Amino acid sequence: MNMLRTDASSANPARQSCCARSALDLDASFCEECGKPLYRCMAHAECGGLLDEGDMCPVCVNLELSLNAGAASSVREGGKLALPLTIRNASNVGRPLFITGLWITENDGPPRELKLPFARIEPQQTANVAVRTEILKYAGVHQVDLLIAVSTRYQWRQEEYVFSSNIIFPVEPKDPGGPATTINVNAQEVGAGFTVYNPTRIEADRSAGAPPQIEPLRLSHKRADAAERDYHKRGLDNGIRVPRDVELVWRGFSPDEAPFDGPIVKASGMLIAGRNSRRAGNDICLRVGEGLDELSLSISRLLFSLYIESGAFKLRAEGQYGLKVNDRQLKRTETMTLKSGDVIRPVVKAPSALSISVAFEIEHDDVRRIILTRESAK
Ligand SMILES: [Zn+2]
Ligand SMILES: [Zn+2]
Repeated sequence: MNMLRTDASSANPARQSCCARSALDLDASFCEECGKPLYRCMAHAECGGLLDEGDMCPVCVNLELSLNAGAASSVREGGKLALPLTIRNASNVGRPLFITGLWITENDGPPRELKLPFARIEPQQTANVAVRTEILKYAGVHQVDLLIAVSTRYQWRQEEYVFSSNIIFPVEPKDPGGPATTINVNAQEVGAGFTVYNPTRIEADRSAGAPPQIEPLRLSHKRADAAERDYHKRGLDNGIRVPRDVELVWRGFSPDEAPFDGPIVKASGMLIAGRNSRRAGNDICLRVGEGLDELSLSISRLLFSLYIESGAFKLRAEGQYGLKVNDRQLKRTETMTLKSGDVIRPVVKAPSALSISVAFEIEHDDVRRIILTRESAK
């Protein structure tokens, strides 16, 4: 596959390919070669991708950033710089990418959000935006940091990520009549991860008869997990994150009512709960007592699904009669983020008949285990 990856998943392409091969068998939960659990992308049916260590599918989320350097002109103290940014969806599997936010930070000032005239970028397509700086108050080397929030969607689900890109550019002194001195900075001096953009130099080369720079200047970018937290793109509002490999622990269920303790390794990434038995295809069988009494029959066969999305533990109501979480009634297709302390109540007309409480075990800011405890009145 022809992919440019910016994350740790590229570190071990051999493992990546054995797992990708194993994941083609939708009944497989673990790689048959290396034994690792298979965390398929939510859109695996379309992309065949697996999530990397950062819970991202590098097949679906494959963006390239560049500056259209052909549009360069000199930049001086007292002026502004328009960065001709091009965002390309480099996915080669036909998955659109959505740009959900763009922020610019100049010389450690506060971030400014930029309005984008587009959100959706089709695969292999590009979108352009001129990112304008504020007035450049002094000559010398300036730094601009861009944060770009992107999302990938599948059915009703959405995963969001934030990337950062750092650009260094020199600003010439004010004197409009004076020659541009073309301050030089290079990547070795500013360090890895930064891109040096020198529009004055490009303009000077062009005036001197050098062939115009046609190739866009590629910007390096990396995942910005702290920004994902700060901008509430991943995880809960309090900064806690639920990683895709979180272990679910089932308490108070009989062995034929719940899956083994462990992470969700089903191909769909979703566990289905309801009155139906596990033999009938449910992952969690919800009944009040032993048999199918009247209260149990009021629970939909498929009542809700559970899955991890954008660093949060989510519940989606699937049954036509709905269910309650705490005191809130959810209708079919409604989703909500579950937090530690929440109580799922499957029997709407008798909420105390059956409950599943949710408790998080947290290490640093990551949820390591989610304890789901069933209690029934019978
Ligand atoms: Zn493997
Ligand atoms: Zn994918």
